[in-house]
Amino acid sequence: MTRLYYTDSYTVTFDAAIIEQTTYEDAPAVVLDQTFFYPTSGGQPHDAGTLNDVPVIDVVVREADHAVLHVLKEALPDGEQVTGAIDWARRFDHMQHHTGQHILSQAFIQIADAATIGFHLSPDSVTIDLNQAEITAEHVVQAEALANRIVTENRPVYSLYPPTEQQLAELNLRKVPDVAGTLRVVDISGFDATACGGTHVAHTGEIGLIKVLKTERRGDTTRVEFRCGGRAFSDYQEKHALLNDVATDLTTGYDQIPAIVAKLREENKAQARELRTLRALALAHEAETLWQNADHEPDYTLITQVFADREMGEIRNLIQKLVAHPKTIVLCGTPGEKALMITACSDDLKLDMVEVLMNGLAVWGIERGGGRPTFAQGGGVKANAGQVETALQAAAIMVRNTL
Ligand SMILES: [Zn+2]
Repeated sequence: MTRLYYTDSYTVTFDAAIIEQTTYEDAPAVVLDQTFFYPTSGGQPHDAGTLNDVPVIDVVVREADHAVLHVLKEALPDGEQVTGAIDWARRFDHMQHHTGQHILSQAFIQIADAATIGFHLSPDSVTIDLNQAEITAEHVVQAEALANRIVTENRPVYSLYPPTEQQLAELNLRKVPDVAGTLRVVDISGFDATACGGTHVAHTGEIGLIKVLKTERRGDTTRVEFRCGGRAFSDYQEKHALLNDVATDLTTGYDQIPAIVAKLREENKAQARELRTLRALALAHEAETLWQNADHEPDYTLITQVFADREMGEIRNLIQKLVAHPKTIVLCGTPGEKALMITACSDDLKLDMVEVLMNGLAVWGIERGGGRPTFAQGGGVKANAGQVETALQAAAIMVRNTL
C-alpha cells in the first residue's frame, strides 16, 4: 500500500480501495491500497478523520507486514471504494509541532551542543529530551531566538523520499533512521536535515511561534516542553489573560507584579511574626487567669479544665505554663469523636499522673493511655463536654485523696 502522506502532507480528502477487512483490538479496521492517514509512529500521534463518514478512531502500523490499519468506530457498509477525510486542524497542529521540533532540536545542537534523544507529542504536551543535563536559561533564550529566526526566514521544507546518493552525501543528517526500509529525509533547507517519517509543513513560516515553556532536568538529560503555532498562541492568550487578571486584582501594571508580590510576602511575614507574639501574650494571659481561678489548697493547686475546639499545641503550651508554678496539678480534656484527657503536675509533687489518668479514663470505661509520672494522656473514644467533666472530677478525687 502507498503512504501518500510521505510526499504530500496537505491533501486531506482522497479516494481509495479497501484491500483488507480486519479487526484491531475488537474494533473493525481496514487496509487501503493507498492512504493519506498518518499512523501513530515516531513520537507523533495518528490522524483523525473519516472513511465514508465513519469516524477513524485510531491508525496503527501492523507489526507483521507494516500495513496501515484504519480502525473504525463501526464497520463500513459493503463496497470496495471509500472516500477518506482527514481532520485538518489536528493534522496541521501535528505538522507545525513536528517541523518545529526539527528546528528546535537543531537549535539546541548549535547553541548547547545538546542532541535530541526523544520526542513526544500529545494533545496536552509536546516535549523533546536532550542528552545534556546542563541546559541554562540563556541556552533556552538563544535556542528560541535561533528557532524563531528560521521560522521567519520562511525556508522551504523538503521531503526527500528517497534521497539521491548525491543528496545524502551533501546533507549532514542529524539523525540516521533506526528502522529498515526506504529512507525519508526531511530537509529544512540549509539548517537541518534528518531522517523522519512524520508530516511537516512546506515552509517554516507556517509553524508560527516556537516557544519553550519549561525545562526539567531528568538525571543526565533535560526534558524541554514547548509549543508551536496555534498552541503557542493559545498559551500566550491564556497567560496574558491570567497576568492581566492578577494585575487588575493588584491594581497595577503587569510589570509591577513581581515587586508587589515581594512586598506582600514581606508584609505577610511581618504579620505572621506579630500574630505569633500576640498569640503568645494571649496564651500567657489565659494561663494566668486559669491559675488565679484554680482551687488553691494549702499544699497544692488543682486546675481542672475542659477545652473545646482548641489546638493541641496551645493546650500543651498552657499546661506547661501552669505546671511551672510549684505544687500544681492540671487535669484537662477535649470532648469530641476522639475525646482526650491529659493529666500533668509540677515535678515537686509526689504523684503518679498515669495512675490519676487511669482513674479518670475508667469513667469512660477504657484504659487507653500512658505517660510518665508528671505527664500522661489517653482517650480516643467519643465523649461530650459533660462526660469529659465527669472523668476529670473522678481524677480530681484521686488527687485530693492522695495529697
Ligand atoms: Zn519530523
